[in-house]
Amino acid sequence: MPIQNKSAVLVINSGSSSVKFTLYQMPEETILASGAVERIGIESSILEFQNNRGDIHRQPASGENVEAAVTELMGLLTHAKFGVIKSKQVISAMGHRVVHGGESITAPTIIDDTVKQIIAENSQLAPLHNPSNLKSILTCEVLFPGIPHVAVFDTAFHATLPKHAYLYGLPYDMYQEKGIRRYGFHGTSHQYVARKAAVCLNRPPEKLKLITCHLGNGSSITAVKSGQSIDTSMGFTPLEGTLMGTRCGSIDPAIVIYMMTQLKMHPDQIDHLLNKKSGFLGVAGIDSSDVRDVLSAMQANNTRAAAAIEMYTYQVRKYIGAYIAALNGVDAIVFTAGIGENSPEIREMICNGGHGLDKLGIVLDPIKNTAASRTSSEIQSNSSRSKLLVIPTDEALEIARQTCVLC
Ligand code: ADP
Repeated sequence: MPIQNKSAVLVINSGSSSVKFTLYQMPEETILASGAVERIGIESSILEFQNNRGDIHRQPASGENVEAAVTELMGLLTHAKFGVIKSKQVISAMGHRVVHGGESITAPTIIDDTVKQIIAENSQLAPLHNPSNLKSILTCEVLFPGIPHVAVFDTAFHATLPKHAYLYGLPYDMYQEKGIRRYGFHGTSHQYVARKAAVCLNRPPEKLKLITCHLGNGSSITAVKSGQSIDTSMGFTPLEGTLMGTRCGSIDPAIVIYMMTQLKMHPDQIDHLLNKKSGFLGVAGIDSSDVRDVLSAMQANNTRAAAAIEMYTYQVRKYIGAYIAALNGVDAIVFTAGIGENSPEIREMICNGGHGLDKLGIVLDPIKNTAASRTSSEIQSNSSRSKLLVIPTDEALEIARQTCVLC
């Protein structure tokens, strides 16, 4: 039964090669429809649309760009067969994921000309994401006029980082005049799982010290004290931190200078190498950046695949150790995102690899770890001083909630 009253909130997440959306009935937080266009600009681009009656509709997407993909997806909301709303009038607000808000936007914000200007200016800091985010906003403003459009920024949750955590050891002008500092990313996910952890533990967020590990295609780890981010592994861009699917993570910056001066590489080549050819893909060398494939190769005695997995789990373990020091203890460590939610092997290697974490009071229960399902689960053993939690992230729902707060 299509909903009639103005109670739906539409959340949209547009990247350079995909557009995803979820339509919620609020405040019930019920999903009415969701969908995506993947591989935008590629011939085999596919549109997928799913409604709350269980229909899944797939069609080749004509989406040659973000604007076309958004228009095509949104058209299906009122489709005679698959649609879930009678008219667009039932949508009361729209939440847009925007990657980089820079220093000037540190909270969800109703989009006006100034906000659009700031998103455009921050494209220099997030060239893969902010331009697509802005194109999608402009398209949606035309498709859905007269309702509030809210931007929810990946960087916003990390606006509470103290200066000693966000400054780099560069001349101060580089920060003050050029904005070079740690911003942090995946903020919406870290915020969602940190809140959920407090609910699962039945404790007020103000009383908790958490380490949230968002381990997906991109990975970042955050220290959360009293509900606020106090340090995070990604930095000026999402390249810093652990190695990732195709990103190298933190490296000695002199390597980049060496590549330029000695290897005569162009900045574009270096950018491509660090962002697209490194990480699991580059180290394991098995033509896949997917951890499932790297784990299979490791099990088949591929030593480079084993090295990549050991590097990754060692690096996550080191961040956990560093953030226990930053927080002076930890009540719970949260694993989330594609790898964190789905891979008991990786969680096990993070906690038990090397010399383990038991001397820091962190002990995994192997049976609970293997049994952890797609709902929130505790996976620590009885002797563990800190809790270990697996919590599925839900960035779209967090954006819907933050949109509702403003509208
Ligand atoms: P994104 O950063 O693109 O949102 P996700 O959080 O969806 O990424 O994580 C995607 C990654 O999660 C995949 O590339 C894959 O490496 C990993 N992954 C998904 N399922 C599993 C699994 N069962 N075991 C190990 N890794 C998994």
